[in-house]
Amino acid sequence: MKRGAKRRSNRKSGMLSELMAAQKKRTSMLRLISLALAAATIGQAVLLAESVQRVFVENAPLASMIVLFAALLAVMAVRTWLAYANGRIGLRIAADAKRDLRARLLRSLAANPLLTARQGQTGGKVSVTLDAVDEADSYFSQYTPKMAEASIIPLLILVAVFILHVPSGLILLFTAPFIPLFMALVGIQTKHKSEEKFEQLAQFSGTFLDSLQGLVTLKLFGRAKRQEQEIQRSSLSYRDATMSILRVAFTNTFALETIVMLGIGIVALELALQLVVFQTMQFHTAFLILLLTPEFYNMLKNMGTAFHGGRTSLGAIRNIEAALAADAPASSQSNASAYSEISADGSESTNANPTGDRDNVIQWPVGRNAKASSATPPVIELHELAFDYGADTFALNAGSLTIQPGKQVAIVGKSGSGKTTLLHLIAGLLPPSSGEVTVNGQPLTAGAGEEEWFRNVSYITQHPHIFSGTFAENIAIGADRDVSREEIVHAAESAGLAALAAELEHGYDTVVGEGGRGLSGGEKQRLALARAFLKRPTVLLFDEPTTGLDLHTERVLMRAMNELSRKATVITIAHRLHTIRHADVILFMEQGTLIGSGTHDELLKSLPQYAEMVDIGRQGVGS
Ligand code: ADP
Repeated sequence: MKRGAKRRSNRKSGMLSELMAAQKKRTSMLRLISLALAAATIGQAVLLAESVQRVFVENAPLASMIVLFAALLAVMAVRTWLAYANGRIGLRIAADAKRDLRARLLRSLAANPLLTARQGQTGGKVSVTLDAVDEADSYFSQYTPKMAEASIIPLLILVAVFILHVPSGLILLFTAPFIPLFMALVGIQTKHKSEEKFEQLAQFSGTFLDSLQGLVTLKLFGRAKRQEQEIQRSSLSYRDATMSILRVAFTNTFALETIVMLGIGIVALELALQLVVFQTMQFHTAFLILLLTPEFYNMLKNMGTAFHGGRTSLGAIRNIEAALAADAPASSQSNASAYSEISADGSESTNANPTGDRDNVIQWPVGRNAKASSATPPVIELHELAFDYGADTFALNAGSLTIQPGKQVAIVGKSGSGKTTLLHLIAGLLPPSSGEVTVNGQPLTAGAGEEEWFRNVSYITQHPHIFSGTFAENIAIGADRDVSREEIVHAAESAGLAALAAELEHGYDTVVGEGGRGLSGGEKQRLALARAFLKRPTVLLFDEPTTGLDLHTERVLMRAMNELSRKATVITIAHRLHTIRHADVILFMEQGTLIGSGTHDELLKSLPQYAEMVDIGRQGVGS
């Protein structure tokens, strides 16, 4: 654990320095402006002290002061402008860095294999991509420019004070270190706390989104109350984490103010003694030092505030780094091991993989063979294929088997026998624990090429996902090219959606999915079919609906599947006797083992379990 954290923090500095290296020009600019700012600060104090000396001590006539006042005003303006310029540069650095971080996060999410992309809570990912990146802002926009200022300005002021009066310089020199020392102590505390806070936020977002997505289910099962308590609990712990950071921040500010007040007080006392009691100092010098002293401490104090913000940001940056590392291809790391599955009903669920160390990245075949398969269905072979979801969990053993191109394959078995798991292994959605699946002789585990493989595969789950968008857009997702309205309409008609489209308020331009019109289960499956019609896959995976469809929908589905299967290998998790009987090959699963394969007649003769299932099926009971 410790080693992991250390590695993470090393990488963190790697990413940060990378980000900062890209901003070299701007950071040098920051230093240059800080130098000018120091000169302006000292210049302003000198001019102000001079003005006060002349007006109040020497009683100079106002007319002779005009030039001095003008110079003072000019220096003040320049100083304000310089401070503004530094702030602007900080914002620019932050904007670029945030863009870079977001791009990295998006790239890593998009470039990842399906499986890794699906692990973890969506809410948590959202909070890393949005909130953590925003929180990283203050490191670049505040901390960086303030640190540049703080490393230059106080130093020059100190030199100026030493030149003016050594004892005052010594007081500044001895009190100043208390500020960074104190900050460092507090910083160490807030660093952990801000990481903790971020974890709480991610957890809260995750719980909240999960609950929203599953609201209907929760209500149906009477769990809404419990979930409400869960949300309350996680929101309260987020509040506590935030409050504890604020507590540290406020105490920090209070203590810093005290140190600053004390410092200024000591300098003022010393100056007063020199001026009034010992009369060893001129008013002008004393006043100038008194003007410079608060500037000196203010700078250090600002640095303290920026430092605190920087620490919080650093926690966020570290979380982004961790998210990037977790999403990085698992071949280079061993802890990204959560298996996610698309359950039989098509909804997503995530399970931590208890084995912990299995490389769960699937690599897809590319090149010659895979390309060839885009025209004709490929030969799919299982070689001693085995899979488990982790030690002492469900284990699947499919043995060896060849699926010839264009065949209609039905996977049958009781609920929980492993049909979906087998289909996911064939689809390349799960990595085998041993053995392999080959496509045209190319193992699904050699080389890369997720895109190529999925270009040829359509998977119609029981509840396909409908994206928020128009009906037409949802169908067009099926094609990986620009498609014309005619093609979309044609695909919809082939999938039996023409009547529905005509019924919709804005036809094909009706917004469906989240925030739009809802679609029934049957309609969603037909929409998925329409996508497949556009895609014309050579491998069609189909999770046949378990529940009874109305006759019309059933006929449409069958017709569409027949049409699609003409140029494709179709592998169906079959529940209907009709599908099973007409399959070229039936794969019979029992408790995770493929115990028989063959045609309907063959299995009837050789496999009593199959005969029994068919018998039950005839009586109208499906799994
Ligand atoms: P079927 O499709 O035949 O109903 P599945 O392949 O969905 O069966 O599931 C087979 C078994 O694997 C079930 O016992 C199920 O509980 C288990 N299982 C499914 N998904 C996971 C998972 N992600 N982690 C652990 N076990 C799982």
